[in-house]
Amino acid sequence: MAVNGTGPYNPDNIFAKILRGDIPCKKVFENDWVLAFHDIAPKAPVHVIIIPKKPYVSFIDFSKNASADEIAAVMQSTGQIAADLKLEESGYRVITNAGQNAGQEVPHFHLHLLGGKALPPFPV
Ligand code: 5GP
Repeated sequence: MAVNGTGPYNPDNIFAKILRGDIPCKKVFENDWVLAFHDIAPKAPVHVIIIPKKPYVSFIDFSKNASADEIAAVMQSTGQIAADLKLEESGYRVITNAGQNAGQEVPHFHLHLLGGKALPPFPV
């Protein structure tokens, strides 16, 4: 069996269920390409998960296979959310985990937007 972040896309992952509306989320932002919602177990006062709506397992999968418009949409959405949540002055961090060694739990590519406090030195 493939570890999270590798192998084929598993449509039973928790973010796929959120995208289908099978389980709820606290939505922060949505457009044609992107959904963003609060992390269920926040590691900082602001902890938002940003996902493409299309199925990508990992950062490499997304960077290889998403269209330029889609990649731009994820990046621009993340920046807009950070600005809307007033993180520019206080500082923030954007990360993605890929694969088991990086601690990826959910095998649908996502960005973590963290902020709202002084963050510990990288890596968190
Ligand atoms: P990863 O470890 O894959 O980079 O991050 C997965 C994140 O998804 C974790 O921070 C975890 O708290 C969050 N998460 C897991 N299940 C759910 C859920 O059902 N709803 C929400 N909103 N976040 C979840």
